[in-house]
Amino acid sequence: MKAILVRQFGGPEVLKLEDVPTPKPAAGQVLVRIHAAGVNPYDTYMRAGTYAVKPPLPYTPGSDGAGVIEAVGEGVKSVKVGDRVYTAKTVTGAYAEYALALEEQVHTLAARISFSQGAGVWVPYGTAYHALFHSAKAHASETVLVHGASGGVGSAAVQMARAMGLTVFGTAGTSKGLDLVKREGAHQIFDHSKAGYQEEIMKATDGRGVDIILEMLANVNLSHDLKLLATNGRVIVIGNRGEITINPRDLMLRRASARGFTLWAVTPTEEADIHAGLIAGLENGTLRPVVGKELPLAEAARSHKEILEPGAAGKIVLIP
Ligand code: NAP
Repeated sequence: MKAILVRQFGGPEVLKLEDVPTPKPAAGQVLVRIHAAGVNPYDTYMRAGTYAVKPPLPYTPGSDGAGVIEAVGEGVKSVKVGDRVYTAKTVTGAYAEYALALEEQVHTLAARISFSQGAGVWVPYGTAYHALFHSAKAHASETVLVHGASGGVGSAAVQMARAMGLTVFGTAGTSKGLDLVKREGAHQIFDHSKAGYQEEIMKATDGRGVDIILEMLANVNLSHDLKLLATNGRVIVIGNRGEITINPRDLMLRRASARGFTLWAVTPTEEADIHAGLIAGLENGTLRPVVGKELPLAEAARSHKEILEPGAAGKIVLIP
C-alpha cells in the first residue's frame, strides 16, 4: 500500500510517499481502508520533532481518518467488515491507504457524513466538545467568543455552541473565513486582523463582556482576552504557539479563570462522552464538518505548509 513515511524529523519535505506492506489486524485490532485523512496542526509539530509526543521513527502521521472496515482481528465485536467509520487515533497512522486501529479507536460514521468530512471529526470536534462541555461547562444562556472560528476546531465549536443555545461570537482573519463562520452559525462575526476589533466585541455585549472564550492563539490574545471576560468568565486555551505576559489582576477583578488542556490527556470516561455527543450530532445534522480543501495523499507536504498559513476555511484533508 501507499503511505506517507517520516524517516527523520524536519520540515514538510520529510513527508515522503512510499510503498509499505499492508498491515494485518491482530486480536482486538481492525484494518481500515482510509478514504480521507484529516490534517491537524499538531501533525506538523510532531513531524518537526518539537511536540510533546515524539513517535519512534519512521512513522506515518495522522490520527483522524475516515473509511471502511476492511478486516477485523480476533475478538472484535463492535464493528464488522464493510462498516463506515471515523478514527480517533490509530496504531499505524492515517496518512495511508490502510490503517490499523484498535477496536475502541473506530467509531460509526453517520451515512449523511462524507469520508472527507469524517476525516475532520476526531481532533477538531473532540477538542471543541471537550472545551465547551467538560472544560468551560457552558450553559445555553451564556455568550461564547470562538477566537479563531474559521479553522477545524473553531468551526466545530461554532456549530456546537449554536446548537446548544449559546450566543455565539466568532472571529476570522479573511472575508472567506468570516463568511464561513457566519454560515456555520455565529450570531456575530469579528475580523481578528483588524485593529480595535476587541472593542467591537465588548460593544456587542453592551460592556458586560463574554462568558467564555475558546482561544486558538493564546500567545497573541490571552492578555486581551482576560479584559473581554464577564464576571465568572473563563478562557479555555486550546491553541498556543509561544509566550505572553498577562496581568493576573484582570482575573481577580472578574472572578475569572483561564485553563487549558490537551486532547491527548482526556480520560476514557470523557472520551466516551465525547464520542456519544459527536456521533449523535453527526447523525442528526447539527454537526457538519466543513471541508476546505482536498489534496491527494502525495501532496502531504503541501498540506503541512498550508495548515499553518493564515486564511483558514475549514479542514484540509488528504485523499489516498
Ligand atoms: P486551523 O484549522 O489551522 O485554524 C486556525 C485558526 O486560528 C483559524 O481560525 C485562524 O483564523 C485562527 N487564527 C489565526 N490568527 C489568529 C489570531 N490572531 N487570533 C485568533 N485566531 C487566529 O487549526 P485548528 O485545527 O482549528 O486548531 C487551532 C489551534 O488549536 C492550533 O494551534 C492547534 O494546534 C490547537 N489545537 C489544540 C488542541 C488541544 O488539544 N489543546 C486540539 C486541537 C487543536 P484565520 O486563518 O481566519 O486568520
